[in-house]
Amino acid sequence: MSDLNWREEALEELKKVPSFVRGMARRAVESYVKSNGQSEVTVGDVRAARDKHIKFAEDDKASEKKKTRIAVVRCETVSEVCPGVACFKAFNSRHAHFKEYDDDCEMIGYFTCGGCSGRRVSRLVDKLVDHGLDVVHLSSCMMLEGEYPKCPHRKQIRANIEAKGIRVIEGTHH
Ligand code: SF4
Repeated sequence: MSDLNWREEALEELKKVPSFVRGMARRAVESYVKSNGQSEVTVGDVRAARDKHIKFAEDDKASEKKKTRIAVVRCETVSEVCPGVACFKAFNSRHAHFKEYDDDCEMIGYFTCGGCSGRRVSRLVDKLVDHGLDVVHLSSCMMLEGEYPKCPHRKQIRANIEAKGIRVIEGTHH
């Protein structure tokens, strides 16, 4: 815990710093305030410390974010018999439902739903949002009738992801 007194407006200002560098920003502000011999943190201190110590990290992250970041969620049941090769092949060759992506796209997550009714999806999407997630693909195994039935929960899974502001595409390799 800090021994400094944070003014309410200073805390509000700190919230404007992107979450991935907020902890670093808080430490930088406190160190800046202490080095000035103060015991209270003001809005001005937050702005000054941000400009001096954090801006570079935000700028780096902003240029990194130009890539489109995608993830695939797939069926827990089907994962027992499928290592996901077809999904990865399709992504690597930008085939089927990955056609629209160019080289400025990377897959940052590939995970199973956690079993009916997809209990793991929301939590993992939240984690990936912190890493700049743009799009989630529901794997083709969730969409197709075959050895396994279509996922009966896919509409709800889709709606839950879209409610977080993330685009959803149904399908991966066919
Ligand atoms: S929720 Fe859908 S994708 Fe997940 S295990 Fe059940 S059927 Fe498979």
